[in-house]
Amino acid sequence: MKALIFEGKEAISYTTVADPSIINPTDAIVRVQLCAVCGSDLHVYHQRETGLDNGTVMGHEFAGDIVAIGSHVRLLKIGDQVVSPFTTNCGTCYYCKIGLTCRCTQGQLYGWVEKGKGLHGGQAQYVRVPLADTTLVKYDPSIPIEIALLTGDIRATGYHCATQANIQPTGVYVVVGCGPVGLMCIIAAFELGAQQVYAIDTLPERINLAKHYGATPINATQTDAVAILKDATNGRGADGVLEAVGSPQAMQLAYNLLRPGGTLSSVGVHTTTQFSFSPIDAYDKNITLRMGRAPARHYMQQLLNNSTQTLFDPSLIITHRFALAQGAAAYQLLDTKQQGCIKAVLSPFDN
Ligand code: NAD
Ligand code: ZN
Ligand code: ZN
Repeated sequence: MKALIFEGKEAISYTTVADPSIINPTDAIVRVQLCAVCGSDLHVYHQRETGLDNGTVMGHEFAGDIVAIGSHVRLLKIGDQVVSPFTTNCGTCYYCKIGLTCRCTQGQLYGWVEKGKGLHGGQAQYVRVPLADTTLVKYDPSIPIEIALLTGDIRATGYHCATQANIQPTGVYVVVGCGPVGLMCIIAAFELGAQQVYAIDTLPERINLAKHYGATPINATQTDAVAILKDATNGRGADGVLEAVGSPQAMQLAYNLLRPGGTLSSVGVHTTTQFSFSPIDAYDKNITLRMGRAPARHYMQQLLNNSTQTLFDPSLIITHRFALAQGAAAYQLLDTKQQGCIKAVLSPFDN
């Protein structure tokens, strides 16, 4: 089959690799109809996250149909239309039961093979899905595949971030970073009852989308976001900050925006070994800090069921479409954010 593989820093290749096959009886093989490149792929691309073996099939956002199942798969059948969260999960361990599916004791992240162990990704024509019954979400084919695809990661991640931000109708909230994840944070914050949401970025097209979704936009290159939030809150600062960047600068800004006793909900992937703010800073503001990988699977069914009732319109988020063969160009575009690129999707069977 054809796939995009990792070949070192900033080197993604379209090449032929072995077709995946059923290894465990709980596996399924999915034919990928549509996959996406994520901000998280860029951490690997730039080698801020290291350890990935050369030759690993990239990607963790995909939707398609099942073409093979192992003998223990009970809930799914060949032909089902499915979307995967970005990690696999067993559905029965302690973490799965408490809704923290991203920390399943048997969980694996797609597109992460290290020292020969791990799981190949979904930027490919086919992908092997372990623990298929509890990992994949079957959805009605009347739901556009773009909605399903984005629900497997950014939509669920944004929803998780807002859930963790302790949203109250009277509160003032700020989203730091208006990439695909930040935009989903804005939508979810309103869904969860927020009435005042500010959104910070430096890229005009992203700030405009944030505004479209109802946030008060702040361009960090032109204005002082902390001063704006202090003005809006009698000098206190935001009740909750939703961080969707994944950098020390963004965490520091999030901290600075927060009022004493506020909640910092961070879903950016962090790759440094120290916080930008100190334990003293955290103590002095009595902050609540929640962060980490989103348990996407925990939210996906509910989000897919309600997918027609939200502001979420994938055509505004998916700005670029490529054939899988043009994958390297898709990575470059997403990285440089040229041409107003917000999210790029790839079709594995188109030329
Ligand atoms: P992206 O790179 O497209 O968007 C990041 C945005 O942040 C950009 O628009 C950029 O201009 C803006 N930005 C950068 N520095 C900023 C700053 N200091 N202040 C304000 N804005 C700033 O990425 P994305 O796809 O939206 O993903 C965002 C983050 O979420 C990434 O770190 C990604 O790895 C992470 N992520 C985490 C999870 C999870 O499970 N926790 C899931 C998906 C993505
Ligand atoms: Zn992703
Ligand atoms: Zn589990």
